[in-house]
Amino acid sequence: LSLVVPCYNEQDNVRAFYDAAVNAFLGCGYEYELVMVNDGSRDNTGIELKKLFYEKREETPITIVQFSRNFGKEAAILAGMKHAKGDLVTLIDADLQQRPEIVREMVQILDEHPEYDCVAAFQKERNEGRGLSFFKREFYRLINQMSEVEFVNGASDFRTCRRKMVDAILSMPEYHRFSKGIFSWVGFDTYYIPYVAEERHAKTKWSFWKLFKYAVEGIIGYSTAPLKIATVLGSFTSLLAVIYFIVVVLQRLICGVDVPGYATIVALILLIGGIQLLILGIMGEYIA
Ligand code: UDP
Ligand code: MG
Repeated sequence: LSLVVPCYNEQDNVRAFYDAAVNAFLGCGYEYELVMVNDGSRDNTGIELKKLFYEKREETPITIVQFSRNFGKEAAILAGMKHAKGDLVTLIDADLQQRPEIVREMVQILDEHPEYDCVAAFQKERNEGRGLSFFKREFYRLINQMSEVEFVNGASDFRTCRRKMVDAILSMPEYHRFSKGIFSWVGFDTYYIPYVAEERHAKTKWSFWKLFKYAVEGIIGYSTAPLKIATVLGSFTSLLAVIYFIVVVLQRLICGVDVPGYATIVALILLIGGIQLLILGIMGEYIA
């Protein structure tokens, strides 16, 4: 079993995490390793990780991956998975909000259910602000409507996957990764278990803005609906212009001229605008 642990400014947590993990796996009967990724922390996480490595490498296999700067949790997970050697790979946060004991349960579930390739933990209730909960709920509603890939509300990255699923994930060439999408996109059967996130040891590293950008990345990566807006709008405007044009011509034939040229110009503007949008939309489809 490989535990992949992204760490960003976790200097006070890495050792606590190590102890908790070792405790949780005491007498588990299988081999495990830790792959700790320092995602360009600004504090002493890197030094703490090195200390831990030299102190404990005799007892537990540890791999430390150091990033040259902060690339984000997604990149840290990817790098960690690349270095993981286990038949099972677990993604778990360093801040002890996700208890390592749950990983043992996950492994047990996979042992008992060969038909599942992944066990993911989801949060039944979120102990965070109302506002944020609202935005997260709306995000899941929106992305599930717009995308063919299924996104489970509350499902975290906290999960244990079999090697074949890990290889499938690693085979994807995505550069801007949105794991929640990738996990579901590669297929495989996932078993969901509820868990309660522990209290935060320190403040979260995700600002609202960072989360928002992440959400947009998810939508763009897993849905082409925004590109279709131009097609739909363009077709609609063009249609309107044609109808209006006919109305203007009829009006003219029946009632005569009011302000000369006015109707023609408006109809033309509408028509050209509509055609432009339509073409933009078509280009969008190809880019998508
Ligand atoms: N993390 C990371 N890079 C970042 C932000 C976070 O590697 O840019 C790590 C962090 O150290 C932690 C995990 O991702 O292990 C989850 O972060 P956090 O606890 O801040 O998020 P939350 O608990 O709100 O999901
Ligand atoms: Mg956390």
